Amino acid sequence: MTIVDVRCHHLTTALHSPFVTALRRTTDLETTVVEIIDDTGERGFGEAPQVWRVTGESLEGSRACLEGPLADVVRGRSSDDLVDLTRAVAEAVVGNFGAKAAMDVALHDLAARRTGLSLPRFLGTARHQVETDVTVSVGELSQLSTDALRRVEDGFTVLKLKVGTDARTDTERIVAVREAVGDRARIRVDANQGWTAREAITTICAIEDAGGGLEFVEQPVPAADLAALGRVTAAVDTPIMADETVFGLRDLVEVVRRNAADLVNVKLAKCGGLSTARTLLEFSRTHGVGTIVGSMMEGPIGVGAAASLVAALGTTYTSDLDAAWWAAVSPVEGGIEYHGGTIVLPDLPGLGIGSVK
Ligand SMILES: [Mg+2]
Repeated sequence: MTIVDVRCHHLTTALHSPFVTALRRTTDLETTVVEIIDDTGERGFGEAPQVWRVTGESLEGSRACLEGPLADVVRGRSSDDLVDLTRAVAEAVVGNFGAKAAMDVALHDLAARRTGLSLPRFLGTARHQVETDVTVSVGELSQLSTDALRRVEDGFTVLKLKVGTDARTDTERIVAVREAVGDRARIRVDANQGWTAREAITTICAIEDAGGGLEFVEQPVPAADLAALGRVTAAVDTPIMADETVFGLRDLVEVVRRNAADLVNVKLAKCGGLSTARTLLEFSRTHGVGTIVGSMMEGPIGVGAAASLVAALGTTYTSDLDAAWWAAVSPVEGGIEYHGGTIVLPDLPGLGIGSVK
């Protein structure tokens, strides 16, 4: 069937509580949604988030990319040529990974719908449930423990703490949350490049001395400094994860070559879509690198696609796909649901999304 139309929508959804990290305070979720339509009227959806601080992409830039060069390579082509189409999308422009991921997901959604299979089944699994962690927003010491306990009551068993704002107080905040939740939840931290190698080693060793218990520490040092990342990884017992350091396969090869990290966070909006993400997960498995799949602040389309990938390929640690949980009301009809820390994917064609509100 021939793809005849490519449309973009601006999606805005209020969050039920503010999402606060070292870099920003967010009260709503905004993405650019792409909708592709074939000549039978069948549709596929994809989603590009705004990610100024990691990939440098904006909603307007993604829209321009999707309606321009990416629309040009898919319009008039058969939606059944999925491998050729996703490769053409990947090669159409430099960068623009969020826009490319949106088109790649829309192509997968459309192809899966045409076969009548859910996206997980289309990717090769009957699993339709995936576990996720939840982020505890950055805050003062007492507030942090209260928020962490609230998330445990919401049904989550894995908490992600955002640190890296102040190496001197990060240790006490992590230890306070650890003591507050006890054995009711596992804890991981994300420093989002906020420490120097020396600060990272000092902080992580202090936490280990205070009883440890961290699953892993994500991106302790600046993304481009592979030497610093490798120094931290070699110096501490706690597993170290690369996030902002690894966009695509070239970056992951370099991490493996230098033994710079134990784990990697794979995100569609960094690598350009399901096809590349699948390669990253397989490559990591081959080389003994642990994995999670994460997302940016995305809604049920982007998170649904990432969760489908996790259902099909698995990850070594619980994935980081809570973004759509923060929406006060789902911005789409159908799609994923959260039951505590479990994402339930609909066993309906594609992503199971009827329309975008
Ligand atoms: Mg991260």
